[in-house]
Amino acid sequence: MTAPHDEMACQTCLSPLNTLGMPPTYVHPTHLATDGHQPAPVPLNRLDTVRRSCDFCGDPYPIWTLRGGEVTAIAIGPTAGLVQDFGDSWAACAACHTHIDEGRNDKVIDRAVRALGLANHPQARQRIEELHRAFLNARLPGRTLITTTAWPATTITAAELPKVRDRLTRFYRSTDNLPAMLRITDTRQQIAAGLERSHLYWIDNDFTDLAEHAAAQLPDVHVSRDLIPSADGMLIWPQPVTHRQLTAASWTDTIHGRTLVLYRTIGAGLHGKPLQRLREQVGWLAPTSATHLPEQHVIPGDHPAAALVATWLLIAQQTAEVTTARVDKSVAKTYARTNRPVPELRIVHIRGHRTTPGQDGESIPGSQERSPASRFWVSGHWRNQAHGPGRALRRPVYIHPFLRGPDDAPIKLSTTVRMLSSHQPKPQDCQ
Ligand SMILES: [Zn+2]
Ligand SMILES: [Zn+2]
Repeated sequence: MTAPHDEMACQTCLSPLNTLGMPPTYVHPTHLATDGHQPAPVPLNRLDTVRRSCDFCGDPYPIWTLRGGEVTAIAIGPTAGLVQDFGDSWAACAACHTHIDEGRNDKVIDRAVRALGLANHPQARQRIEELHRAFLNARLPGRTLITTTAWPATTITAAELPKVRDRLTRFYRSTDNLPAMLRITDTRQQIAAGLERSHLYWIDNDFTDLAEHAAAQLPDVHVSRDLIPSADGMLIWPQPVTHRQLTAASWTDTIHGRTLVLYRTIGAGLHGKPLQRLREQVGWLAPTSATHLPEQHVIPGDHPAAALVATWLLIAQQTAEVTTARVDKSVAKTYARTNRPVPELRIVHIRGHRTTPGQDGESIPGSQERSPASRFWVSGHWRNQAHGPGRALRRPVYIHPFLRGPDDAPIKLSTTVRMLSSHQPKPQDCQ
C-alpha cells in the first residue's frame, strides 16, 4: 500500500507485496495464505490483474483507490516490533465506499471486524477504528477506478449494448480518475466523443469462440485502416475472451493515433445500493489496457488486443455475416427524447447460418470418399494472403474450422476441439 509507482506484486500469485527494510526485500502480506512459493516481484503496473483486497474490510473486489492520511502501524510482538506501512492510498470495495460516502464509518468497521472474526473483541475494534480514522480524517477529494480486479464475468446482451456504451461515455466525461498506467488521461474526452459516434457490434457466442480460438494463434498483423470495420466502434464479446478475460473493446482516432481500449466487466456479485451506485458511477465496463496505434502499425500476435485484431480480420475476410437489429422500444424512446439518432446494433455471426438452398446441398470436399459416420470439427489456422494494390501487402486469413461429415450425421463430441460453428465451407475455402 505504498505509492502506486513503486508498488510491486508477485508474478506467481498476483498479490501486492509488502516491503521490509532497506534496501527493500519483498514479502507476501502476512495475512496471505500462499502455497509456500517465494515472492516473484514485478512492478505492479505491468500486471493487468492484481489480487488486491479492500484495505478497509478485506473484500476481494476493490473498485476505488482513495487518498488519505499516511498510516503506519507498529505491532509489538513477543520477539520484535513489526512496522507495517499502510501508505496513503487505500483500496475500497463498493460496500465500504458507499458507507464512507454516507458518513457511516461505523459500518465499515463492522465489515472489518466481521471479516477478521473479531466481532467479540472490543479492543480489536478500537485499533481498527484508529487506523481507519487516521486515514479518513486526512482524506483527499477524488477517487481512482481500480481496473485490475478480476471480477467474475457479467454477460452483456445485444439489447443492453446502447446503455452500456452510454454509461461508459459518461464515465470518461466524469471527474473520476483512471490509473495513469492506462495512459488515456489526456484522451478521455476524445474517446468519449468516439464512443458516441461508434458503430456498435455484438459478437454472437459461436463467433466469439471462433475469434478466441483464432486469436490464440494470431501472427503479427499490419493494422491498416481498411481492416477496421468502422472509424469509431465498440464491440462486445458476450463471454470473456483470452486469459485477459476481455468482454469489450472500443476504437477511435485521438491525438495519439488510433486508440484501442480493452475492457472487462465489473460489479458481478454486488447487490442493492453498492451495485446501483457502481452502475451509475462507472457502468458495466472498466478499461484494462489501451494502445495507441500509428498508421500501418504492426501488432504482434501476443498483443493484449490480439482478440480484437482477430475479430476484425475474421469480419474483413467475410467469415462474418453482420445483420442489424432494432433496439428496444424503451431505448429508442430514451434516444428520441434527447434528440439523438436511435442506435443501430450490428450482430456479428458466422456466415453460413442462413445459407441458400442451392449452396446448402454442396458436398464437402473429402466427405464422399471417407463417408464418415459422424461429423467432426476441423480446427483452423492462419495463412498470409496477398491483398491491396498490386497484391503487395500480406494479411493473415483464417482458414477456419468447419464441420466435416454428412449433414445428417451426429456431431462427434471431442474434448480436444472446442470450436463450434455451423459453417459450411465452399471448395475455395479449403485450398
Ligand atoms: Zn506470490
Ligand atoms: Zn471493503
